[in-house]
Amino acid sequence: MSSEPLTIVVVGAGPGGTVMVDRLIANAPPGRRLEIHVVDPHPPGGGRTWRREQSELMWMNSQAADVSLFTDTSLRIDGPIRPGPAIYEWAAEHGYDVTHATFPPRVIQNAYLSWCFQYIVTSAPPQVTVQVHRATAEALTEAGGRQRVWLDDGSEPLDADAVLLVQGYLDAAPGGVHQELADFADAHGLVYVPPNYVADLDLDVIPAGEPVILRGMGLGFIDTIVLLAQGRGGRFEPRPGGGYVYHPSGAEPIMYAGSRRGIPNHSKITYPELGAPLAAPRYFVPEAVTALYERHGPLDLNRHLWPLMAKELGHFYYHELFTAHPERVTLPWEKFLDRYDPAGWDDDERITLVEEAVPRREDRLDLANLLSPLEGLRFDDAEDLQRWLRSYIVANVERHADPAHSADLAVYKGLLVMLALVLDVLNQGLLSARSQAEDLPEWFQSVFSYYASGPPPQRLLELEALSRAGIVRFLGGGVTVTADREAGLFRACGPHAPGHVEARALIESRLPAPSIARVKDPLLRGLYDSGSITEEVLTGPDGTTYRLGRIRVENGRLVNASGAAHPRRFALGHWVGHGFAITGFARPGTNAFPFRIADALARDLLTEITYPAAAAPSPANSVL
Ligand SMILES: Cc1cc2nc3c(=O)[nH]c(=O)nc-3n(C[C@H](O)[C@H](O)[C@H](O)COP(=O)(O)OP(=O)(O)OC[C@H]3O[C@@H](n4cnc5c(N)ncnc54)[C@H](O)[C@@H]3O)c2cc1C
Repeated sequence: MSSEPLTIVVVGAGPGGTVMVDRLIANAPPGRRLEIHVVDPHPPGGGRTWRREQSELMWMNSQAADVSLFTDTSLRIDGPIRPGPAIYEWAAEHGYDVTHATFPPRVIQNAYLSWCFQYIVTSAPPQVTVQVHRATAEALTEAGGRQRVWLDDGSEPLDADAVLLVQGYLDAAPGGVHQELADFADAHGLVYVPPNYVADLDLDVIPAGEPVILRGMGLGFIDTIVLLAQGRGGRFEPRPGGGYVYHPSGAEPIMYAGSRRGIPNHSKITYPELGAPLAAPRYFVPEAVTALYERHGPLDLNRHLWPLMAKELGHFYYHELFTAHPERVTLPWEKFLDRYDPAGWDDDERITLVEEAVPRREDRLDLANLLSPLEGLRFDDAEDLQRWLRSYIVANVERHADPAHSADLAVYKGLLVMLALVLDVLNQGLLSARSQAEDLPEWFQSVFSYYASGPPPQRLLELEALSRAGIVRFLGGGVTVTADREAGLFRACGPHAPGHVEARALIESRLPAPSIARVKDPLLRGLYDSGSITEEVLTGPDGTTYRLGRIRVENGRLVNASGAAHPRRFALGHWVGHGFAITGFARPGTNAFPFRIADALARDLLTEITYPAAAAPSPANSVL
C-alpha cells in the first residue's frame, strides 16, 4: 500500500454529501489509503434541511416508499453497490411508526439520515477513514499544489488533493423586487419575509388576528400555514364524513393566499400501483427530439417539446384507462391507438376520438384545465371563490386516493419518465438559452411540482378546514401584490373575484432561487468575489444573455471567471450547474438519477487524484 494517503474534503454533509461519501468509499482505489474530511456545522446525514431542531409539525412531502439513501442492484452504474435500508425498513427495526405510505416528519427523517451517515462510515473498508468537522468552511485556497480549506472554528486548515462542494440549499441576500419590498416594509414599519426556508423563519413577527399575504402556494406555503395555525395552538378534529374541523387558538393571523396558478400543488397519489404496466414512451422519445432539433435548431420546451410531451402524457393516461378500466371506454386499446397515433394533441381528431371512446367527462384527460383550473373563471363574490377552491381541493384529494382513477398515477409516473429525457435534452445542449433560463425553471418545474411533488393529502384537507374556519382566505390565481406608498400597506388582488386585501405583512412563501452573485455563504462568496467561480450565463442567437444564478461547472468541476475548469475542485447540488440538480434520496429499485450522478462524479474525482496524468473526465452530467 502506498504510504501517501489520498485526501478529499467534502463540504456539506446533508443527504447529497452523505451519498457522495458513500460513493467515494465504494469507489476507493484498492491498495491506497483514503482520508475523507467532511465539513458541516450541522450533524452529518441530516445537515441543515433535515436537522433535528425543527418543529415536529414539519413533514416530508415524500412518502417513505420514495426515500432511500442507498444504492441497489437496479442501478446502472460503474461503481460497486453498497446496499442499505429505505427509511420504512430502517424504521421497522428502530421502533418508529413509519410504513411505506407514511409522510415522515422531518425529525424522523433526521434520525434516519444520521443513522445512514454512521452506517456508511462505519462500514467503510479499513484503508478509508472519514473525519467529521462540525464547522463552516469559510475559504478555499491553494498551497503547494494542494487544496486548502479554512474552517470557521479556528482549527488548522485542511489540505487535500481535491475538494468537493455539496452545499445544497443556500441563502441569498434579497435582490431586485424583494429588496424594494424589504425597504418599503422598513420605511413603513411593516413585515416583509423574502423567499425563505420556513424552518429558519421567526414567525413571531406575524401578529395574531391580522391579515398576512402569502404569495406562493407550493410546499413552503404548506409549511408556513402549518406553523401559523397548528404551530400556534390550533387543533384539527376529524369531521364525520371526512376532512377536519379546525379549532382556532386565537393566535393565528388571517392568511390570504394566492399565486400565479392560485391552486395548491395537487395531493400526492397515495395508492401504490397502476392496474396495468406503464406504457413505454412512444412520442416524447430521443429520436423525435433529435428530429425536431435538426429541423429547428435549439429547442423551446414550450413551443417545440410540449406538444410531444402532452401527447405522451395522454398516451400514458389512456393506456392505463383502456387496459386497467376497459368497462369505462368504448373501443379496444389498439383501435384507440390507431387513431390517436396520427393526431396532434390539440387536433380536433384527437378531441373527437376521446369524446367517442371515453364517455364520462371525468375520465378524459384535460391537460389545459388540469394545469390551470382557474383559467377563465370569474366569481361575483369572494365567498364563491372560497367555496370553489375548497371543493376543488377535496375532490382532488379524493380522486388521488382512489385507484379507480389510476390513469392519474400513470400521468405521474409518465412525468417522472419524461423528466429523465428533459434532463438528457438539457445536458446534450439541445434547449435554447431562453428556454433553459425561463421555461425550465418558471414553467416546467412548476408544472412538475404542481402535479408530481405535492403535499400529503392530510395537509390539503387541513388547508380546506382552515379555509372553512376563515383562517385562510384564497385570493386565486394571477395575484398581484403592490406596495401602496400612500397608505403604507401591502395590497393584493386577483382577477377571479372582486375586491382586494390590505395587510401589514407579506410572506413570499417559496424557496430562494439560486443566485450566486448574492450568495451569503462565506466560502462561495469569497470564491465568487475573487473570480475563482462564476455564474452560468447563456447567450441566445440574438446576443441576449441569460443569467441562470447557478455556479458554472464543467464535468462537475468549478469553472473560474476566465472560463477554466479547475481539475481539483468539484461541485454538485441545487445551486450548481444549469438545469435540475438532483441530490439526495430516491425510491429504491428505480435506477435513480441522483445515485448515477453521484457515482460518476466520485469515480471521476478519484481517477483525477489517483492517476492525475490519465484523468479523462467521464462527464458527471451525461450519465442518462
Ligand atoms: C425545505 C426543503 C424540503 C424538502 N423536502 C423534500 C422532500 O420531502 N422530499 C424530497 O425528495 N426532497 C425534498 N427536498 C429536496 C432536497 O433536494 C433534498 O431533500 C436534500 O436535502 C438535498 O440534499 P443536499 O445535501 O444536496 O442539500 P442540503 O440538504 O441543503 O445540505 C447541504 C449541507 O451543506 C452544508 N453547507 C453549506 N455550506 C457550507 C459551508 N460553507 N461549510 C460547511 N457546510 C456547508 C449545509 O449546512 C447543509 O447541511 C427538500 C428541500 C428543502 C429545502
